[in-house]
Parts: sequence; C-alpha cells; structure tokens
Amino acid sequence: MMVGVISFVIISKVSSPRFFVLHLERLESRGLKLIHIRTELVQGFETAWRSSTLWSVLVGTTAAGGLSYWVSKRIMLRLTEMEQITQKFAAGELEARLPLSDIPELNLLGTSFNRMAASLEDVEARRRELIGDMTHELRTPLTVVRGYLEELADGEIEPSPEIYRRLAKETRRLERLVNDLQELSKAEAGYLPIKIQPVNLRSLLESLVDRFSDQLLEDGPMLRLECPSALPLVLADIDRTEQVLVNLVGNAIRYTTKGTITVQAYLEASKLWIAVIDTGIGIAPQDLPNVFERFWRADQSRDRHSGGTGIGLTISRHLVELQNGQIQVESVLGVGSKFRFCLPLA
Ligand code: ADP
Repeated sequence: MMVGVISFVIISKVSSPRFFVLHLERLESRGLKLIHIRTELVQGFETAWRSSTLWSVLVGTTAAGGLSYWVSKRIMLRLTEMEQITQKFAAGELEARLPLSDIPELNLLGTSFNRMAASLEDVEARRRELIGDMTHELRTPLTVVRGYLEELADGEIEPSPEIYRRLAKETRRLERLVNDLQELSKAEAGYLPIKIQPVNLRSLLESLVDRFSDQLLEDGPMLRLECPSALPLVLADIDRTEQVLVNLVGNAIRYTTKGTITVQAYLEASKLWIAVIDTGIGIAPQDLPNVFERFWRADQSRDRHSGGTGIGLTISRHLVELQNGQIQVESVLGVGSKFRFCLPLA
C-alpha cells in the first residue's frame, strides 16, 4: 500500500503540471490568448492537484489499511485456530478436525488436513484392533502350554507322550498364528511383493488337485478339476494365486466330510473365475458377511481345536485384491459352499 501511495504521489507530482503546461501550449497554438492568465491557471491547477491528492491519499490509505487489517485478521484467526488443532492432533487427539472456512484456499488446506487426519485415525484404529485380536488369539495356546508345564512341574500329571503331543500341537498352532500374522500385517500394509505377469493357470490347477487328492482319505470327499483345456492367460502372480487356492481347497477339505470338492475355472464377464465348490458343512447366511474378517471362525471352539486361525481368508482376500481381482462366497448351511475369485485377462 505504501509503495503504491508513494509512487502515485511522485509520478503525478512530476508529470501532471508538465502535461497541463503542454495542454496550455496546444491551446495557445490554436490561437487562444492565455498569456495573461497562464500563471494563474498553472497555480490553480497545482492547488486543485494538491488538495485532491491529499484527499485521495487520505481516503485511499484509510480504506486500504482498514481492508488489509480486516483480511489479515481473518486469515490470522484461521491460521491460529489451525495451529491449535494440529497441536491437539499431534498430542494424540486423533478425532480433532479443522472447521470449514469461508476463505477458499484455507478451506482447501483444511479439507486436505481432515482427509489426512481421518486416514491416520483409521490406521490407528486398525492397529489397536489388530493388537487386541492378536493378544486374544495368542493367549489361548499360551495358557494351555503354561497350564500343562505347571502341572508337570508340580507333579500333578505324569509326563506322557500324549501330553508332549498336546504341547507340540499348541506350539505348532502358535507358530502358524505368528506366520499368518506376519503375512497378514504385510498384506494389510500393502508390503507383499507381488509380480504380476501373463500366466496360464491350468498346470497350477492340475498340480494342486493332484497334490491335495493324495492327502484325501478313502472315505473322504472326492476332489476334481473342471477346467477347459485351452485356458486364456491371466495377469497374476502365480505364487500368490497358488497361496489363495491352497487356502480355499484346504478349507474345503477341512469342512467337508463326504461328497465332492470341485475346482472350476471358467470365463465370465471377460474375467477368469476360479471356484472351489464343496458339499461340506456350509456357512449360515448371517455369518457370510464375516468370513473374510480376520480371526473370524464360524465355531470358535471347534476351529480352534481343528487348528484354524481365522486369518487364511483375510489374507486370500488381500492377495486377490492385490492382483486386481475380487473374491466372493456363496454358501448354504449343511449343503456346501462356493468360494470363487476372478483375475483379469492378459
Ligand atoms: P481358518 O484357518 O479358521 O480356516 P479362514 O479365514 O480360512 O480361517 O476361514 C474362516 C472361517 O470361515 C473358518 O473358521 C470357517 O468357520 C469358515 N469357512 C471357511 N471355509 C469354509 C468352507 N469351505 N466351508 C465351511 N466353512 C468355511
């Protein structure tokens, strides 16, 4: 404002009288006789110029000063408010959010801050939830192991191969849980290395079905593959796809005592779908939305006994999504389940 006022005064002081004199000379050259009143005209002009400059500087600086003060006060108020809220956020009040402002630039900044705050709050909530779930899951086998060890130490039970087998089983469960948790935390944080390339899944499906068929008991379910001989290439990571399939087929075998388990590959809506269909115990309709939740098991005690960790399907969902696919489940209690996932065509 000061620079503007000073340049206005200097420039007009230097140039205005000169322009006025030039104008008078032009009038004289057209024949007007101004010789007697010329000095008075110039003086009159200068007085008029001085008083109008004085008024315009006074009114202009007051108006501009007032306006600048008002605008900067509004901005400062908002900035101080923002600073206080970011301090609160840094101190751990993760629900603190910036209020909306009527200054568009500050509003934009506030909106980005609020978005960042919401995502940090979400990460923190998930971290807490994971730690809660994890400690709950680890506590059970640890309690069992400690119980046996204390009873053995006090001589309350006799050491026998059966006791050691139970202890080994619980430690195996702990080991599996820790491995699954490591994989899950990597998947949830998006750190799982994934190498997507065009692959033909047919040989993977065949070897998988062969491998699992060998493990099935005589009176158990039958495992079969339904796959067209010419399977189109898909964009996928073959190791991660195998991990998903091992989990789905493993679950189908665990929850099916008789009937058939079918691994199917087919094209639908320009995607390759792979389905694992079983005739096992099925899942109740109210439980279906939970199957991909971490640590969820239809029957907590039965599955803890059978060694399930409730993490397999959560990891599978992450792995499929990392490969730009989708995983779905359909199931009827007592009839069977169908887990299927799709992969984009190459
Ligand atoms: P788990 O290691 O316990 O099998 P998952 O995440 O793989 O963990 O599965 C979660 C739960 O979903 C299982 O405990 C089981 O109750 C249910 N489930 C998964 N697959 C099937 C299936 N094919 N048939 C019936 N229930 C299933």
